[in-house]
Amino acid sequence: MTHPNLNAGFQKISRHDGLFKEYVHDAYKAKGKLQEPSVCTKCNAVFHNGRWQWQPAPTNAHSIICPACHRVHDHYPAGFITLKGDFFHAHREEIMHLVHNHEQHEKKEHPLKRIMSEEDKDGTTLITTTDIHLARGIGEALHHAYQGELEFHYNPDQILLRINWTR
Ligand SMILES: [Zn+2]
Repeated sequence: MTHPNLNAGFQKISRHDGLFKEYVHDAYKAKGKLQEPSVCTKCNAVFHNGRWQWQPAPTNAHSIICPACHRVHDHYPAGFITLKGDFFHAHREEIMHLVHNHEQHEKKEHPLKRIMSEEDKDGTTLITTTDIHLARGIGEALHHAYQGELEFHYNPDQILLRINWTR
């Protein structure tokens, strides 16, 4: 599968949209309801007590592929963050360090929150993520640390979030 069209089906939303309050399980490629406990055979994340966590797999765990590993395999991200601007270029290393720190911190608690790829093109860096909440968290962390302009665009049909940060 290729990247979805980042212009079609997106609408601008507020940074404080109610969508971020509820946490919906990523059902990407899920076949029916997730059985408990389950273990991902690619990354060893365990689904137990209604959430994904890093823990030793229970002996009776079902073997599955988690939504994050499915997305990585299919190159089908949920979150897209574009970074650009003069300030960004002047401080790129420091800013990317903050991005990676944020991901590491989140991933420790939430195994499905991962950065998938980073790509530089025409002066813009595009970061893709397996989870829209991670994309939002990175955008908020950048804005908190460096201000700048932060814009959110949401595609409700495919549950994709695109974030533009410019400084
Ligand atoms: Zn996995």
